[in-house]
Amino acid sequence: MYLTQTVHQAVQQTPATPMTVHGDRVRTAAESADRVARLAGAFRSLGVNPGDRIGALAMNSDRYHEYLLATPWAGAVVLPLNVRWSPAEIVHALRESATGVLLVDDTFAPLVPSLRAELDDLATVIFCGDGDPPQGMIGYERLIEDGMPAEDARRGGDDLFGIFYTGGTTGHPKGVMLTHRNLAASALGSLATGQFLTPRGRLLHAAPMFHLADIAAWTAGMIVGSTHVIIPAFTPAGALEAIQRHRVTDTLWVPTMIQLAIDHPDVLSYDLSSVEHLVYGASPISEAVLERARVVFSRAGFVQAYGMTELSPIATLLLPADHDDPALRRAAGRAAPHSEVRVVDAHGAEVPRGTVGEIVVRGDHVTPGYWRREEETAAALRGGWMHTGDGGYMDERGYVFVVDRIKDMIVSGGENVYSAEVENALAKHPAVAACAVIGVPDERWGERVHAVVVLRPGLAATEEELREFCRDRIAAYKLPRSVAFAGELPLSGAGKILKRELRRRYWSGGARQVS
Ligand code: ATP
Ligand code: MG
Repeated sequence: MYLTQTVHQAVQQTPATPMTVHGDRVRTAAESADRVARLAGAFRSLGVNPGDRIGALAMNSDRYHEYLLATPWAGAVVLPLNVRWSPAEIVHALRESATGVLLVDDTFAPLVPSLRAELDDLATVIFCGDGDPPQGMIGYERLIEDGMPAEDARRGGDDLFGIFYTGGTTGHPKGVMLTHRNLAASALGSLATGQFLTPRGRLLHAAPMFHLADIAAWTAGMIVGSTHVIIPAFTPAGALEAIQRHRVTDTLWVPTMIQLAIDHPDVLSYDLSSVEHLVYGASPISEAVLERARVVFSRAGFVQAYGMTELSPIATLLLPADHDDPALRRAAGRAAPHSEVRVVDAHGAEVPRGTVGEIVVRGDHVTPGYWRREEETAAALRGGWMHTGDGGYMDERGYVFVVDRIKDMIVSGGENVYSAEVENALAKHPAVAACAVIGVPDERWGERVHAVVVLRPGLAATEEELREFCRDRIAAYKLPRSVAFAGELPLSGAGKILKRELRRRYWSGGARQVS
């Protein structure tokens, strides 16, 4: 499947249905398709050839959606850049991908002169913000007005749709190549559960659109004919307001967003009854947050997705009914229809059910590899399976439980401690707003369990109180032996806690030996 097929179907079947809603700007499927064809024509006349990369450095908008379609329409490859990256990281990604055309909005336009100074390949910058384009940039709306509608390139499913960078949680972000077939497999498999998105519903894009989690929802939404409701960036009030105003049926959030929304003082005054599917994933969620979220979004089916950029990104799904089974409280779900999942030991042999090993995945959704990183590709895909770097086990019914990233596991006095389990216990304490648990060097134990805790404003707790609180919930050897209090935790662009930053103080370079 080539993803632009979804546009032709929308035009054929529901031309007058809104395809995008951004603020007060509503565009029907027919109008969107026309704009996409014109933008693709403009890309072509700017010299974009099949297979060329077109980058985007912008907040969420309906134009971002058009970019995601016009690029493959012109036969080119999308390269969505992380909006939280430093200029050096942006330069690195654009340079290694030899990207010649870049879209920027108001937020990033000021960065363009310095990017140009560093990047010889960067021939064209398109300004997709509002108002007049700054000097040296081409206005997006002008391009569409002047562009001759192009024929859809409609290349094959094995052509690259895009290069997507990993979260950079454990190291430098890596460019993951994903084909149209990869993304379609993940979306179609997830939709096949019948509980992923509402057909012809209203899908809210509140998570950043550069991130593959949101692109996965976008792809599925294109397939089932959703109206894409778009807000520039997540704020608790902005997202809650958009849900109420547009009667949003589906949305995909990361746990941090859920936590911020349910902590909003007025959360209960919003009408959230339209939400049918709240998909969450990308990092573990604490039981306490999930429990409260299920009260706030009382009509929604909660669906947890586990996966990674390299898997387009979905591997397993925990469906709404699974959320009522107390045995599955820590589960990440079962293999989605498109995805083959196993748990293996260091030699690649499957381990018995209930035994922790590395989660590996195979299927049409698995990346052909990292962009120009043959060695890392071969290492990650050894034996034909994508090695996730996540530790976990599978129960007798095939439910997968992710216990920790292998790099985050703590070995204290010869016992394995999974940081996620300790964090989960701490997060239940009423004074704890956020926490992260890491292993730090310890002469006696090899590693010691150390917690970094952010307290809720106005609430207090001592180190000893927190330890006592955990004592009732987890085994003694897992208790945090030291606790540091912090104002905030370092987060990645995708809202994940950067434990390597926290470890940096204790281990040289933030890295430590893992067996
Ligand atoms: P990098 O690979 O650069 O270190 P990253 O792994 O965070 O960054 P992503 O591909 O965005 O980049 O994230 C995938 C990872 O996120 C998984 O390997 C897993 O550790 C974590 N993850 C995703 N979904 C879940 C989930 N439902 N529960 C727990 N962890 C999850
Ligand atoms: Mg990763």
